Amino acid sequence: MKIAVYPGSFDPVTNGHLDIIKRAASLCEELYVAVLENPVKNSLFTIEERVSMLQEALKEFDNVKVEPFRGLLIDYVKQTGAQLIIRGLRAVSDYEYELQMALANKKLDPEIETVFLVANTEYSFLSSSLVKELAAFKGELNELVPSCVKHKLQEKMKER
Ligand code: ADP
Repeated sequence: MKIAVYPGSFDPVTNGHLDIIKRAASLCEELYVAVLENPVKNSLFTIEERVSMLQEALKEFDNVKVEPFRGLLIDYVKQTGAQLIIRGLRAVSDYEYELQMALANKKLDPEIETVFLVANTEYSFLSSSLVKELAAFKGELNELVPSCVKHKLQEKMKER
């Protein structure tokens, strides 16, 4: 049984991310969902908001922990004691970036493996950016994000 880390920006979490998380959680003993705190990346939601939306959406999953992290992913992974990094692959367009990251992480620590889960066809078009764009123009979000995220997005758009 393994410990795994699923890292990402989750700005905000979508049903595509949640599908990967649920599938990954069934494959390992413990799954850390690691939310990247990146001061350079301009995110819509603060790190606290991104973590709390994930916690709300995942409260029924006993073996899933949501935590913020900063700095090098591989350092965080070692700190958790994980042997696996989980990433999702939607289309060929994801592949080049994901390959580069997986190879860089392998170079930094050959003992840690990156495992790719292929996106569910239902969510293969779905991204946090698409969801933010739809929210900005009051598009339908029901099938794309959990209800706590939908409400937070609507609040955020009102503030703007
Ligand atoms: P990052 O900035 O690290 O790419 P994201 O939050 O955009 O963070 O994505 C985190 C991971 O989830 C990535 O591996 C991405 O390919 C995957 N992912 C994003 N959206 C989906 C989706 N709809 N279905 C499956 N995987 C997804």
